Amino acid sequence: MAILVWFRNDLRLHDHQPLQTALSAGVDVIPVYCFDPRQFGETAFGFPKTGQFRAQFLLESVADLRRSLQQRGSDLIIRWGEPETVIPALASEVNAQAVYWHAEATAEELTVENALADKLQATGKKVRTYWGATLYHLDDLPFSPKKVPGVFTQFRKQVEKSSTVSEPFTAPKQLLTLPPSIKTGALPTLDQLGVEAPKFDDRAVLKFPGGETAGLTRLQAYIWDADCLKLYKQTRNGMLGANYSSKFSAWLALGCLSPRRVYQAVQAYEHERVRNDSTYWLMFELLWRDYFRLICLKHGDRVFYPSGLRDLKVAWQQDWPRFEAWCTGQTGYPLVDANMRELAATGFMSNRGRQNVASFLTKNLGIDWRMGAEWFESLLVDYDVCSNWGNWNYTAGVGNDARGFRYFNIPKQSKDYDPQGEYVKHWLPELQTLPASKVHCPWQLSGLEQQQFSLRLGVDYPHPIVDLQKSVEANERIYNAALERQA
Ligand SMILES: Cc1cc2nc3c(=O)[nH]c(=O)nc-3n(C[C@H](O)[C@H](O)[C@H](O)COP(=O)(O)OP(=O)(O)OC[C@H]3O[C@@H](n4cnc5c(N)ncnc54)[C@H](O)[C@@H]3O)c2cc1C
Repeated sequence: MAILVWFRNDLRLHDHQPLQTALSAGVDVIPVYCFDPRQFGETAFGFPKTGQFRAQFLLESVADLRRSLQQRGSDLIIRWGEPETVIPALASEVNAQAVYWHAEATAEELTVENALADKLQATGKKVRTYWGATLYHLDDLPFSPKKVPGVFTQFRKQVEKSSTVSEPFTAPKQLLTLPPSIKTGALPTLDQLGVEAPKFDDRAVLKFPGGETAGLTRLQAYIWDADCLKLYKQTRNGMLGANYSSKFSAWLALGCLSPRRVYQAVQAYEHERVRNDSTYWLMFELLWRDYFRLICLKHGDRVFYPSGLRDLKVAWQQDWPRFEAWCTGQTGYPLVDANMRELAATGFMSNRGRQNVASFLTKNLGIDWRMGAEWFESLLVDYDVCSNWGNWNYTAGVGNDARGFRYFNIPKQSKDYDPQGEYVKHWLPELQTLPASKVHCPWQLSGLEQQQFSLRLGVDYPHPIVDLQKSVEANERIYNAALERQA
């Protein structure tokens, strides 16, 4: 007799309820990870679904999980194929009576797990699913998922007032060896997944090695060793360097770190060092993460519709030349271009950057926000389906509590958050010679200044692809027309 534990976006041993519950049953426990070929195809707009940064992070995370299981006497079974086919076959092969896993919240993942559950149950196998991706457990919320408030602040206030965060489960120290008859399976290479190996760019904010071990190391480094948590609220809008923000997102997205484990570390820090606005604010941000997951659970597929959660039918354009200028960092707006080049070169972008580039794509270029969301899905090392599509809904103005046409004034943001122009110069070497007063608006350089700073507009750096003000006005009209049609 045995229980299979199917690992998905929960590549860790700490805080893993399916694993803990299976272990307490006193039978063989067989951990399995399945590489699903559908995750290595293309998105609807034709981008690689799992791009090189995330593919590498995933391989490293699975390898780390296998190592941790091996160190405890067990192993990880690795398979290639659709889980709804591979796992029932494995369950029969090892005579498992049940399969346990962490439930997900969105369409593709739910389709797979429902198909798997049907097949297993049809052959008399038990299925048990657990909720483990959020800080607050579903069972500890003061409302059911269908009743999650439509406005974040209401959600936050109710949760903070009525709910508590449960203690994370501890990682098992020792595990039973696997039955010798099972073939463990090799970890695929990037090449086998059809993905080119990414080159590390030393301008990156951080190296993001995949896996629970690296995630816990980053937790220790950011909170304790560098002692950055106490200043998080003041630094979190930065764009340069490893420590302006936690950089936990990639490890959280693949479940190498559990949010409850982060919470536990923050509590210990508050106890031992300091408790202030910053220590609270990290939890506040993790609540956003919870919120997007719950909103996806509540609204099903709608987060992926062009009209979004709000069902607002804006006449978006699919302007590929302009989209390409956005993707490659050639829009003529330094803040947008620097961030987009950082994303392409490293798979990461700060939260400040993400908000600005998403605003520019939707409010200045009027481009279908789903193209941007899929571009992020392909490139982001920390891609998380709910956080990505939920945030894009918000920035495109089609989120559930979108408050009319809101946009970021890009040059103003650039001056406010990068006053010396260090960030834009870091990613746009062609602007190195410009003084801070000129670097955010190179289109204002006179002919004489272009000579003085050796920068030829239109040759070394592009002219702006749209007029900032006129484009905002035009897109606001389009957005308001959609609002009127909806009224
Ligand atoms: C258009 C857009 C797309 C995004 N796509 C993703 C995505 O695919 N995956 C992802 O993890 N985050 C996404 N975010 C949210 C946010 O930008 C990142 O979580 C953050 O930049 C990651 O850096 P960090 O870990 O240093 O964050 P920190 O500032 O240190 O925050 C700590 C943690 O809180 C959570 N968090 C912070 N801000 C948000 C937010 N706005 N929404 C949800 N969770 C948040 C993250 O888990 C993050 O790791 C997106 C934001 C925007 C505007």
